[in-house]
Amino acid sequence: MTVMAYGAYAADTPLESMQIMRRAPDPHDVAIAIVYCGICHSDLHTVRGEWEGTLFPCVPGHEIVGRVTAVGSNVTTFEVGDLVGVGCMVDSCQSCPSCAEGLEQYCEAGMVPTYNGPSADAPGHTLGGYAQAITVNENFVLKIRHGEEHLAAVAPLLCAGITTWSPLRHWNIGPGMKVGIVGIGGLGHMGVKLAHALGVEVVAFTTSADKCDAALALGADQVVVSRNADEMAAQADSFDFILNTVAASHDLDAYTALLKRDGTMTLVGVPEHAHPTPAVFNLVSRRRSIAGSMIGGIAETQEMLDFCADQGITADIELIRADEIEAAFERMRKGDVKYRFVLDTASLA
Ligand code: NAP
Ligand code: ZN
Repeated sequence: MTVMAYGAYAADTPLESMQIMRRAPDPHDVAIAIVYCGICHSDLHTVRGEWEGTLFPCVPGHEIVGRVTAVGSNVTTFEVGDLVGVGCMVDSCQSCPSCAEGLEQYCEAGMVPTYNGPSADAPGHTLGGYAQAITVNENFVLKIRHGEEHLAAVAPLLCAGITTWSPLRHWNIGPGMKVGIVGIGGLGHMGVKLAHALGVEVVAFTTSADKCDAALALGADQVVVSRNADEMAAQADSFDFILNTVAASHDLDAYTALLKRDGTMTLVGVPEHAHPTPAVFNLVSRRRSIAGSMIGGIAETQEMLDFCADQGITADIELIRADEIEAAFERMRKGDVKYRFVLDTASLA
C-alpha cells in the first residue's frame, strides 16, 4: 500500500512530502491508520545527521497513535477500530535474556527502531510515524485506554513518557525522595508530571526563566534556573535522584554536586557532541553515580500508559501541520518547546 509521509532525502535538505510503501499485514501484524505523531528531539538529531548512521530517505516519528484498520490472521488481542500506539521499537529478537525480561529496548541482537532500523520492507530500512499509516508486529503495539478526545496529547507518552517513566521506576523513585528533572522540554515535562504523580518532591531545572510558572503548574514543587549559580548552590547535596533530559552537551558536575551520598543522576538526553568529562572527585566524595537509560520495554510502556490513563496524565502539546515541522525543529533547537509538538497526520493528505 502506498501512503503519504513527510521526510528528508538528505541531512541538509528540508523535510518534504513523499510517498512510501507499507506492507500488507502478515499473520502477526497490525495495520494502523496514524492519527497523530509526536515530534521528539531524536527525530531532529536523526534526520539532520547529528548522530552517525542516518539512512535516507528518512521519515522520523516514534510517538505514534492511531486506529487499527486491519489485523493479521493470528492476531487476537487487537481488533479493527481499536485505539493503539507504537513507540520507538517495532521488533526485537524476542528470545535473548533482555527480551525474555521484557527489556526489548536492550535486545542483545539489536532491537529494530521504528525508523532508521533494518527492514525487509522497501526501502530496506524502517520509516517512522510522520506518515498516514504503519504496519507493526502485534508484540510492539500498545493499547490506549485514554478517551479518544485525548489522543493527540497521548502520542508523546510513547517516547517522552516511557523514557522518563522507566528510569523513575528502575531507581525505585517514591515518597520521601527528592528528585530533580533537568531540561523542561518534551521528556522533561513528562518527567515532572510522572515524578509528581509518584509522590516525590520534584525540583525542575531549566535554562529558560520563562518556563518557571509552567514547571510549577506541571507539578514541580520548586524551579531552579540553572544559569543562576546561587540558586544552584542552594540545592547542593540534597537529591536522591536526578533525571537529565538535556539535548545538548553541558557541564554534568553542576548536577552531580547536587546529589546526596549514594545519589544517582541518570542521563537520557543524547546530545550530538559529548559532555565534558565529569570530575571524579564529585563522584567519589559522596559515592555518587552517573547512569544512562534508554526508552523502556513494551510491558513497561503499557504499564505507564495505563497509569497515565488512571491518573488523567497526558502531555502538554502544540498540534502542528506537516509544513510546520521545520519551524518546530528550529524552536526545539532553541529550547522553545511547550512542551511537545504533535503532528496532525490529516495535513499529509
Ligand atoms: P526537547 O523537547 O528539545 O527538550 C530538551 C530540553 O533541554 C530543552 O527544552 C531545554 O530545556 C533543555 N536544554 C538546555 N540547554 C539546551 C541546549 N543548549 N539545546 C537544547 N536543549 C537544551 O528534547 P526531548 O525530545 O525532550 O529530548 C531530549 C534528549 O533526549 C534528546 O537528546 C533526545 O534525543 C533524547 N532522547 C533520549 C531517549 C532515550 O531513550 N534515552 C529517548 C528520547 C529522547 P530548558 O529550556 O528547560 O532548559
Ligand atoms: Zn523519542
